Amino acid sequence: MRGQVHPKQLVEKIGQMCPLRKLLCPLRKTQAAMPGYPQAFRDCLWITFALLVFIGCRPQEPVMHRQTRVMMGTFVEVVSPDPRAGDIAFKEIGRVENLLSKYKPDSEIAQLNKLGRLKVSPATWFILTKAKEFWYATDGAFDITVGPLMDIWGFTGKQFRIPSDGEITAARQSIGANKIIFHEANSVVELGIPGMKIDLGAVAKGYAVDCAVQALRAAGISSALINAGGQIYCLGVRSSTPWRVAIRDPRGKGTSKSVDMTDKAIATSGDYEQYFIVGGRRYAHIMDPKTGYPSESGVVAVTVIADDGLTADFLSTAIFVLGKTKGLALVKRFPGARVTIEGPHEPD
Ligand code: ADP
Ligand code: MG
Repeated sequence: MRGQVHPKQLVEKIGQMCPLRKLLCPLRKTQAAMPGYPQAFRDCLWITFALLVFIGCRPQEPVMHRQTRVMMGTFVEVVSPDPRAGDIAFKEIGRVENLLSKYKPDSEIAQLNKLGRLKVSPATWFILTKAKEFWYATDGAFDITVGPLMDIWGFTGKQFRIPSDGEITAARQSIGANKIIFHEANSVVELGIPGMKIDLGAVAKGYAVDCAVQALRAAGISSALINAGGQIYCLGVRSSTPWRVAIRDPRGKGTSKSVDMTDKAIATSGDYEQYFIVGGRRYAHIMDPKTGYPSESGVVAVTVIADDGLTADFLSTAIFVLGKTKGLALVKRFPGARVTIEGPHEPD
């Protein structure tokens, strides 16, 4: 009959697909040795056995190893079919955190903030020079010297408050990443204004994820997902299909979207991560260096997909400050980057 697979055909097909063909031969003999049983019953027996073999031969989903640690002030999760991935990624992220966290007194950034001048490692040099380039690319909207503003608005110590106009004016005097001086001859970085303080919160996680991905690749690991508090990199594919990343709805309304990714980074900046509300007004942790106030660009959330974590992390924060029109123009200057912008604000 047309369309019906004869049990023998099925067995032949399976025989080509997997090395169990030999195993099936004795069964064929068994079937031949069952002349007393009706043909339908013998066929049924064959189909059942063949299906069992077929299911056994299907490519197996690899076992995924999922590990989570609290690092860089957030949850870092590593998922991979390779059990070594978690340890390798955590070690690398820990190394970057120990260099760049302003909260770790021995880190290079904490020392630089304290002393105003420091000989730094190649990694710190790299991210600081990149951050100065980002300042120019955004006309100062992206500024890693927002440290004094983060302090007076209480975001550094999680003691949120509205500072006085005088405090804001004073803090703004110490801001301007264009004033960071790089002494190439001896790898010394100098903060060009008294009271200047660096805060790499906008890019440290994206950069740390990039370093972790590099370490995974060096170890021969070709499939992993690293999520550092929403800064995500998808290395290779999950098994046979791309990694699927869900994007959170900024106000928790409706369903979140999802996106399939391979060898790409995704970063989100939103006004729902760290914020406080006073008098019905929301004050979030991303500053507009031009005003000294939390950004009021009208953007609620920005999601950027890019080839690397540093670019995605930088762009998402920068666009949050720049707003939709300037933000879309900025993204065009970064090949491979895509952005989704949500806004304007709805009343809280
Ligand atoms: P998250 O760290 O929550 O993922 P972002 O990547 O957008 O979000 O980074 C926000 C952090 O960036 C702030 O907590 C602060 O440390 C820093 N920051 C705030 N305003 C600016 C700014 N205008 N330019 C650069 N960095 C900023
Ligand atoms: Mg960012």
